[in-house]
This record gives sequence, C-alpha cells and structure tokens, in this order.
Amino acid sequence: MRRTLIAGNWKMNTDHAAAVALAEGVAKGSGDVENADLLVCPPSIYLESVGKALDGSPVALGAQNMYAQPNGAFTGEISAAMLTDVGAEYVILGHSERRNIMGETNAMVNEKTLAALEAGLVPIVCVGELLEQREGGKTGEVIAEQFAGSLASLTADQVTKIVIAYEPVWAIGTGKVATPEQAEEVHADLRRLLKESYNDEIADKVRILYGGSVKPSNAAELMSQPNVDGALVGGASLKPEDFLGIAKAV
Ligand code: PEP
Repeated sequence: MRRTLIAGNWKMNTDHAAAVALAEGVAKGSGDVENADLLVCPPSIYLESVGKALDGSPVALGAQNMYAQPNGAFTGEISAAMLTDVGAEYVILGHSERRNIMGETNAMVNEKTLAALEAGLVPIVCVGELLEQREGGKTGEVIAEQFAGSLASLTADQVTKIVIAYEPVWAIGTGKVATPEQAEEVHADLRRLLKESYNDEIADKVRILYGGSVKPSNAAELMSQPNVDGALVGGASLKPEDFLGIAKAV
C-alpha cells in the first residue's frame, strides 16, 4: 500500500522570516493530517532554518535541486552531501523549470538521481509534457523518453527508493489543472513503464505524484485516482492553510 505524499515546492519564493513562518505554520497544522506524509522544499539557502522550524513535527525537509558531483570546482552549486548535512531527506530533480529554463537534460537528471540515491536522499524525479506536445498527441512518447533517460541504469533496489512526479507543463502555475482522467492516464502509463522495466512488485511500490495547479478544491478528486499517490504543489504550498487543506483532502 502506497502512502500519499504531499510535497510543497516553494520555488524561488519567501525570504528568511517568511520561510520560517511558513514552516512553523505547516508544522503546527500537521497534527491534523492523518492520511498523508508531508514534505516542504524551501530555497536551499533557508533549508537549515526551515529544518529547525520543523523540528519535532512529522513534516520532512527537501531541496529543489542539487549538483551531481560530490565536491570541487563547481561555483554556485550544492552537492547531495551538503543537502543531507543540513537535514534534507528529499530532493526534487528535473523540475520542468529546470529542464525548460536552465536547459537540464534527461542525462543530467539521471546523473543527479544516481548521486542523490548514493547520498541517501529520496529523489523526486519530475517528468511532463509541454502544451504543444500534448496537443500534437506526443504525451506518451515524451513521458516514455523522460522516464527512460532520467532513470537510466537504476537498479530495482534504487527505483523503489525514488518518487516520480508527473507535472504537465501546461498545468504548472497556470490554474489549468489536468482532469483526474488525464492525470490517471499518464500515471497508469508510468506504472506500466515501471512494470516493463522492473516488475509488478517494484512498480507497485513507487509513489507517483501529480503536480500542476493542485488546490484544496481539486485535490480529493485527483488523489482518488488509483495511480495518483500524492501531489507536488507549487503556488498552493505558500500558504499553510492551502497546503494543509490539500493534505486533509486525501
Ligand atoms: C510545481 O511547480 O511543481 C507546481 C506544481 O506548481 P503549481 O502547483 O503552482 O502549478
């Protein structure tokens, strides 16, 4: 049985005081959430302070990105070990903003995924099609390519330790949420790819989150789909009541 995960991606938002206040708000309300694990992913510079604000609560801490190399001359980058050092347990990898704005490729996401696993982090590997790809009937093809490229060479044991997030790019930050049927179709496809690449037992263990304009009002219907195991939440994770509202809708 897969336990639902509700993950907040704060992106490049908040300042130090707002990040701590948001974390305190989520921690305070987390006791009312029964059916989901909670995770917040603040900007890296606030990880340590947010971690302190979450102390003693069941809310986990994650980062939004990392570099694949362990150390060295990579100015401005942050390693997996640095993330675990400040208490992060998860890391979002291959978010569409990193793929489409920063030019991250499947090969780079794959390197990062392997490095995160090596360091004991849980990678949340994001996949998702652009609007023109959906309209051109290419969703299945794009997802299969991102799946194969981003998860290349992961062992069966490693793949059970990851989370996959399906985030249609046209639904991110647009208010245009995928219908539960559209989400389920891609999630079932991802589950099939896991079965084909590994086996049924392994495929059944991997959590597949949906992301893209999730709100308290649409969360229950999305989460009720058989292959939707939680949500990666952007905008609505910036207010404790909205983020917790999504988690309570599960
Ligand atoms: C995201 O960026 O991961 C996301 C899903 O954003 P939003 O919820 O704002 O669409």
